[in-house]
Amino acid sequence: MPVDDFKHQGRRKMLVDLLMTKGIEDKKVLEAINIVPRHLFLDSAFAEFAYRDEAFPIAAGQTISHPYTVAFQTQLLDIHPNEKVLEIGTGSGYQTAVLVAIGAEVFSIERQKELFDFSKIILKKINLEPRYQTYGDGYKGLPSFAPFDKIIVTAGAPEIPKDLLQQLKIGGIMVIPVGEQSQQMIVIIRLDEDQFEKYIFGDFKFVPMLESRSK
Ligand code: SAH
Repeated sequence: MPVDDFKHQGRRKMLVDLLMTKGIEDKKVLEAINIVPRHLFLDSAFAEFAYRDEAFPIAAGQTISHPYTVAFQTQLLDIHPNEKVLEIGTGSGYQTAVLVAIGAEVFSIERQKELFDFSKIILKKINLEPRYQTYGDGYKGLPSFAPFDKIIVTAGAPEIPKDLLQQLKIGGIMVIPVGEQSQQMIVIIRLDEDQFEKYIFGDFKFVPMLESRSK
């Protein structure tokens, strides 16, 4: 079976139009959404609905985020080609693919082995592989590859992990949903060694960011 076809391409174009009406205006983000075949990141039972602006269950009790949420977080990151981006919560790999499609050098961490394995295969298949992908605990970040221009967290964090703040470049941006039951989207800009600026952007609902990798 071909990985993509006109039917899916047409639906993707309509999704891009929908995201524009919802306020996404970064051309690089819209172009990436237009390129990445989201239907391949979902269980085939949901493939028909892949280009609706909806979240769906993936393996290990997790969810693939709404396309709007992916687009919104990516727009807030303000990615430029070749920037080093750390992603916490690879999940299906869809957000990873969007970041790679924009030209970022992506480092991604996932604590569920099943999702780590699945996303690795699909990202290779569609030729949107991150620079580095690992099965581990995102709370710790990746100190050996730090500092990062941008950091994106795609699970709801009870608070902002200190280790991640330390791995952000000066001038860098972190986008992270913070809260227990529901989350506020927080943007953090690192001003210097120990000063950070914080902005809040609306309410979202994510699966929780959990400590340590699953067994
Ligand atoms: N962007 C992904 C979102 C997946 S949901 C997508 O659209 O598919 C969030 C993911 O974060 C889940 O896969 C969950 O297992 C993972 N996660 C939660 N806590 C984590 C942690 N401490 N480190 C790494 N990944 C974590």
